[in-house]
Amino acid sequence: MFPNFEIVPPIDSKRVLTRPIDRIAYASDASFYRLIPQAVVQPNSIAEVQALFQFSHEQSVPLVFRAAGTSLSGQSITDGILIDLSKHWGGRWVEKDGELIRLQPSVIGAHANVTLQPYSRRIGPDPASIDSCMIGGILANNASGMCCGVAENAYHTLHSMTILLPNGLVVDTDAKDAAEKLMHSSPDVVKGLLDLRRRVFSNRSLADRITQRYQRKNTTGYSLNALTDFSEPIDILSHLLIGSEGTLGFIAEAVLHTLPTYRFKFTSLLFFDTVQQAASSIPLLVASGARALEIMDRAALRSIQNFPGALGEIAQLPNQAAALLVEYQASTSDEMNSFRNAALLTCAHLKTLVPTTFTEDPIQQANLWKLRKGMFPAIGATRQPGTTVIIEDVAFAISQIADAITDLQNLFETHGYTEGIIFGHAKDGNLHFVITQSFNEESEIQRYERFMAELVRMVTEKYDGALKAEHGTGRNMAPFVEQEWGEEAYQIMQEIKSLLDPSGLLNPGVIINPDSRAHLQNLKNLPEITSSVDRCIECGFCEVKCPSRRLTLTPRQRIVLQREIARRKQVSDSHLLESLQNDFQYSGLDTCAVDGLCATACPVLINTGTLVKDLRRQQIPEGNQQIALYIFRHFKLAEQTLRVGLAVGHLLDKLIGTDGIVALTQAAEKISGKHLPKWNEAVPGPTWHIPPTPHDHADYVYFPSCIARVMGRPADGKNSPSLTDTFLTVSQRAGVSVWIPDDVEGHCCGMPFGSKGYKPANQAMLHRTISGLWKWSERGRLPVVLDASSCAYSLRTSGAELSPQDHDYWQRITILDPIEFVHDILLPRLKVQHLPMSVVLHPNCSSRHLNLQEKLLAIARCCAISATIPNNLDCCGFAGDRGLLFPELTASASLFEASEISTGQYDGYYSSNPTCEMGMTIATKKPYRSFLYLLEMATREM
Ligand SMILES: Cc1cc2nc3c(=O)[nH]c(=O)nc-3n(C[C@H](O)[C@H](O)[C@H](O)COP(=O)(O)OP(=O)(O)OC[C@H]3O[C@@H](n4cnc5c(N)ncnc54)[C@H](O)[C@@H]3O)c2cc1C
Ligand code: SF4
Ligand code: SF4
Repeated sequence: MFPNFEIVPPIDSKRVLTRPIDRIAYASDASFYRLIPQAVVQPNSIAEVQALFQFSHEQSVPLVFRAAGTSLSGQSITDGILIDLSKHWGGRWVEKDGELIRLQPSVIGAHANVTLQPYSRRIGPDPASIDSCMIGGILANNASGMCCGVAENAYHTLHSMTILLPNGLVVDTDAKDAAEKLMHSSPDVVKGLLDLRRRVFSNRSLADRITQRYQRKNTTGYSLNALTDFSEPIDILSHLLIGSEGTLGFIAEAVLHTLPTYRFKFTSLLFFDTVQQAASSIPLLVASGARALEIMDRAALRSIQNFPGALGEIAQLPNQAAALLVEYQASTSDEMNSFRNAALLTCAHLKTLVPTTFTEDPIQQANLWKLRKGMFPAIGATRQPGTTVIIEDVAFAISQIADAITDLQNLFETHGYTEGIIFGHAKDGNLHFVITQSFNEESEIQRYERFMAELVRMVTEKYDGALKAEHGTGRNMAPFVEQEWGEEAYQIMQEIKSLLDPSGLLNPGVIINPDSRAHLQNLKNLPEITSSVDRCIECGFCEVKCPSRRLTLTPRQRIVLQREIARRKQVSDSHLLESLQNDFQYSGLDTCAVDGLCATACPVLINTGTLVKDLRRQQIPEGNQQIALYIFRHFKLAEQTLRVGLAVGHLLDKLIGTDGIVALTQAAEKISGKHLPKWNEAVPGPTWHIPPTPHDHADYVYFPSCIARVMGRPADGKNSPSLTDTFLTVSQRAGVSVWIPDDVEGHCCGMPFGSKGYKPANQAMLHRTISGLWKWSERGRLPVVLDASSCAYSLRTSGAELSPQDHDYWQRITILDPIEFVHDILLPRLKVQHLPMSVVLHPNCSSRHLNLQEKLLAIARCCAISATIPNNLDCCGFAGDRGLLFPELTASASLFEASEISTGQYDGYYSSNPTCEMGMTIATKKPYRSFLYLLEMATREM
């Protein structure tokens, strides 16, 4: 029986989520375990977390904190109460001129670094997941990555933290009275910690073992070095919280020491005959000052050898070959000079397969890192449907790395993991290996069990290595902590847990778990749903990008829920199935902006919008598909009707005001039971005519988007020139001749149909438009330019929807986004004056997909004395017309960007897509327009 969550005081019931859809959405982290929480609660203050501690004790229900949920060992899931920190707790403050940073638990690691950029500083921990994972998780997992090693991890860069203990004590460890407060309120804790410290030191070999083991990366069990490194209970406590995986207390805030950023980099990929030769080079390279040193076995190299940009040598390597990606990093050019010399001298002594070449070109460096970082996703993307991808994280002494790799390779062979690859942070002796595994059949679970038993034996008995170097113990290694650390150390860990969390309600089963088969419980099976998302590894990297993440669901949660729906269908659980399907309509389908931003962060390139479009299509009755096809056939008429509708809307706005129209719409929604578009003051005015343009000697075909043809007059100046007029004006001033085909009406990129799931109408429209473009462009001779980024992007990515003939045409037509057209073609030919303006830009999702934000910024910087892209740039969530149907999506999606903009002083607001300009105008109450208007102003004759 679940407790009555309505009584969780004093938390607003809107932040206590108990519907099945919410609970299941949070049942997965990035691990291969799964637990469904009884409730998900989103507290926003320490007092609320204190209330949750009390509730947990009164009801004997476990509590688990969740930051970004990217953990790999099953430590951010629960069948108790899941405390979702990601919606609040986002404060960050730079202190001491950038030497310190104060962070709340839901700040994303990379955002902390952006905040520190002006000071040329960064945080120490550098997990590969830094663009998604949050400070709470980074600290509680003691996460680290390619460069940070041990010296720069959270444990060693911690200045202080504010902790809440299960006994209710809140203490800021930096406060002058912190020690007294701890002593006064929790004397048992103080005594217990000091007793444990004495116990460690009374066993000299244990104390030495602890010191020696933490010279390498180790996140198995609790951070026992807190007992040997510190003598003050308050310091022992704060450092025990690092790596405690939410099992000892709540980290409400932390202050970290920061480190300098490195501007200069010197990078090479070295190939060796064997892994032994690669490994024997590591000490020399470390001694020469290499900051990153990534080892890769042949299988790992094979996984990326066909990637675009992969060095040709990789495919030719012999079967036993290995590689080291080495990088030197420096803050000053002098420092880099000395590294350069040391690197070249060292490499001259290495026996590499190919002569060593270093690069300082950021593009080539990024390409090398892309290959290294692509290995894990490469296995994820090619795995068998229904299997999950497991990434493990072991550490050895550097001198043992080569033997350990050979042993791991043998283990793969023995247990049939033929796809297994090995890579890792060689300088720290930290190896990751990736295998794929199904948990759908008992025989597969048994295979995994046998493999794990041998792996644990090999790591602990043969090498005295670490079973977890950086990913945390979680549920995955909890049964083996004692095997790695020994009886005495494990007992001390058990006592730490009992001392700080006597009732054992904080993340039970994680780190300390008496069940020797705990790693085989609550395994996640992955039913197949559809090929577009079956590759999903539930890593959560996409969540931070999603415009609906604060309103309803994230992309990962959409996939997790579809998988659950598939499971429930298999067992015919009609009650739960109905509840999930009903709630998924709004949370999963209606409020997805289908902007595909998720794909930009997904390691296996999943665009969850594609899944959503497919699901929307499946729901559409055949009759409605026919209506869409009718509209397609009469698109020209539809354009005219919309213009009239807009004119009527604006007339009504004058007569009864915006609120009046919204009230009418709401009444109509009640009667019809359907969501209807909501009128707002940002709706642009109609475009009544498209000016004629000469065809002869045209340099470009200008294909005005249907939105510009219908509603092309800015909402804040309905008598000002239309977008099309403005486009023509700036082109004319640059002496570039553009031609608008006379029969352009009735054509569009198909997005208005495709995004809603009207596939036949989308495909028919694409056929019409590609045929038109082929004709107008004189069989691809003339490039085609659009005035809206989303339409340009949509056309440029429409290949999969085209017939073979259209596909051939499409490949031969050059389609330009307005930003690249202006930046590459017009700007060099224009006399642009620097207007005394400060402008803010909103590069929309499509322009970001096309990587055009820098070009947009460059154009704006030519036109205005200052141009900014907000740090909190997000998607406006307007999604064509979705913002008209669900204005709350725009409000939620743009919350942080709008709030940042409200604190700045700007004279102009610009983007490159009419509907996004509408969305941003609504969100910020500032008049957004196309950047073409800015260019027009800046190129007027003086
Ligand atoms: C593809 C991939 C690559 C990865 N690469 C790395 C890597 O290179 N290095 C690495 O170390 N890790 C890596 N990870 C694992 C993971 O991303 C990191 O450990 C990360 O720091 C976890 O942060 P999170 O915000 O997702 O935390 P979560 O998973 O949400 O939580 C982690 C733990 O912290 C606890 N917790 C969270 N907030 C608090 C708080 N305020 N107080 C107390 N406890 C709290 C949770 O209960 C949980 O036990 C990777 C993961 C993936 C999927
Ligand atoms: S398409 Fe956009 S709104 Fe939909 S899941 Fe992906 S990021 Fe979220
Ligand atoms: S969609 Fe991609 S980024 Fe998102 S959880 Fe799945 S694999 Fe990770």
